[in-house]
Amino acid sequence: MKLSIDTKKCSGHARCFAVAPDVFDVDDSGYAVPIDRAVDVPLDPAVEAGIAACPERSIVLA
Ligand code: SF4
Repeated sequence: MKLSIDTKKCSGHARCFAVAPDVFDVDDSGYAVPIDRAVDVPLDPAVEAGIAACPERSIVLA
């Protein structure tokens, strides 16, 4: 599967980075740095935690 950030929906809460700093990164304003990469299934717990932590549902797994 592919993990990416919908930057139009990201509101800069930085919660993804707070729970999974090895997976997500944020800029100086707290907005997620765009990513676009393949992830294994079953998902790494850190990936799941980051997705669950995002209040804007801007982390996309497809
Ligand atoms: S938690 Fe969601 S809204 Fe907040 S920085 Fe991360 S991707 Fe953006």
